[in-house]
Amino acid sequence: MSNVSTNSTGSTSSRARGRVVGVPRRCWCGEGIVALISKSDPNPYRRYYRCGFAVSNKLRNNDHTFKWVDETLFNEIDTLTVKNVGFEKHLKGFRTERLEFEKLVYEKMEKEIFEKIEDALTEAKTSNKKMMVIIVVLCMIMIG
Ligand SMILES: [Zn+2]
Repeated sequence: MSNVSTNSTGSTSSRARGRVVGVPRRCWCGEGIVALISKSDPNPYRRYYRCGFAVSNKLRNNDHTFKWVDETLFNEIDTLTVKNVGFEKHLKGFRTERLEFEKLVYEKMEKEIFEKIEDALTEAKTSNKKMMVIIVVLCMIMIG
């Protein structure tokens, strides 16, 4: 383990040390992750992941990987939720598309029906006019 002790120097500081989402596979320092059980007073028997290098050197309060196992599970659930939201969005888009298609068909049908009604109305109007003309002519004949 003497070869890894140099890793704590500035040579590795440029590597990403952001919080790992999900189960950490490897610490930024290159060391593997070990699963341990906390013996501290605020978190008794709480399971956590820790950088193997930090464990073997008994390091405390450093930036080597440390993560509670339950938090990791929450992350996993979060990731699943995000995936679900994406799926639901996709489904919603599909539904909207279908609704728009139905609306289009409905509008077309409505338009055709309206056109037919209009045709019937104009026909009725002309026949009404004919009827009016006939009535007027009849009245004129009767008066005359
Ligand atoms: Zn480490």
